Amino acid sequence: MKFEDLGLSEQLLKAVKACGYDTPTPIQEKAIPIIFMARDVVGLAQTGTGKTAGFTLPMIDILEGGRAKARMPRSLILSPTRELAAQIAENFDTYGKNSKLSKALLIGGSSMGKQIRKLERGVDVLIATPGRLIDLFERGNILLNDIKILVIDEADRMLDMGFIPDIEKICSLLPTMRQTLLFSATMPPEIKHLTKKFLSNPKEIVVTPKTSAAETVEQFYVNTTPRSKNTTLEAIIRQEKVKNAFIFCNRKRDVDSLSKWLKAKGHSAQAMHGDLVQSKRTETLNQFKSGDITLLVCSDVAARGIDVENVSHVFNYDAPFNPDDYVHRIGRTGRAGLKGRAWTLVTKYDEKYLDSIEKRIGQSIPCTKLSNDKGSSSAGSNKARNKNSKRPNKNTPNKNTNPYIEENKNQENQRYETSSSDIAHKKERNQKSVTGFGSEIPDFFGK
Ligand code: AMP
Repeated sequence: MKFEDLGLSEQLLKAVKACGYDTPTPIQEKAIPIIFMARDVVGLAQTGTGKTAGFTLPMIDILEGGRAKARMPRSLILSPTRELAAQIAENFDTYGKNSKLSKALLIGGSSMGKQIRKLERGVDVLIATPGRLIDLFERGNILLNDIKILVIDEADRMLDMGFIPDIEKICSLLPTMRQTLLFSATMPPEIKHLTKKFLSNPKEIVVTPKTSAAETVEQFYVNTTPRSKNTTLEAIIRQEKVKNAFIFCNRKRDVDSLSKWLKAKGHSAQAMHGDLVQSKRTETLNQFKSGDITLLVCSDVAARGIDVENVSHVFNYDAPFNPDDYVHRIGRTGRAGLKGRAWTLVTKYDEKYLDSIEKRIGQSIPCTKLSNDKGSSSAGSNKARNKNSKRPNKNTPNKNTNPYIEENKNQENQRYETSSSDIAHKKERNQKSVTGFGSEIPDFFGK
């Protein structure tokens, strides 16, 4: 199929051509005609599938016909993170460069006054994170009764971040006669419930990622101990030809301390997590994109939806608690047909997470021993994770208490970035037993 077959206007075809896109991606092929038919859509698609253009392109054509009134936006796109919201706004600028549509970006961490002035002039497209939108609505700066199209992007991440009550509130403030498009990488029951409540007879569109990560990303894990993680990671970085890399940590405080440690060791590293002010996050991201920073040490939430081409490596400083996060993380490399490499540090406390990851991706990840790394060798290479070793029983309390979890118990007021990992983590603490995620793997991924 060609873009010309999708019913897009000449000006959009020109913009798409200028981006160098030859053919629509599967989500674009399936979603664009349905959106033009004014139907609600549930799109099961991850970042990297071209889903943003999948909703942005038809929206530009649909909205082109009318004009916005002061404080009354005509469409609303809800994004879980500021970075993703900014990326969507960039998409509107790119594809809508030949249109007269106006847009506003309402995100926390940037000047409210500027955002309010823009709203007062009237905007066709409002791209917002839920918190800032509710804030401005409650102050009387926005009227939502002219919204004709609502997009909820990365709905499952909204759930992880605790935004579902905000989304429900926003949906109930919108006119019932509207078109709603919901995109999510997975379909947990809470999101299913949301679609039932707020979408009307939606067309379900399911796509698998452009390229399966397993095909373009070589994956490895290395055994280490909690105390040797930094040196193990550095040994891998020195051994690999790292052009640029995302380094994922499960906790914000580790993001900060690891990036400081790497800098002290002479690496070009920078931290990125949800507690940093927006201007700092934007600056860091731009430096990473331009190659001024080589190593971006980040949390799952901060890196979610960030689209950086040509990333050579992903390092999991911590094995993620949720196997879906692993898939998202390693998907940051090996994009657009290029080869990437993903390394995961595994301590004996992470074995169960590694098992869930392997179950989720349907393959086992090879264990690699580093040539000169004390950390990994002191962990006893494969011994730390021997398939024949006595595994903890799911129903018995875990005697191998994870020092991180213990530490967290003692620091209840330690702030965590809310993420699926966090939720899994809390769940595990509550159950006080070793649990896998096998039964929680969404059906979508099994298909
Ligand atoms: P998204 O899934 O929206 O984050 O898009 C991922 C990447 O795919 C972005 O860098 C887009 O520029 C790119 N992209 C979107 N549509 C196409 C297309 N039809 N052909 C090639 N690349 C595309």
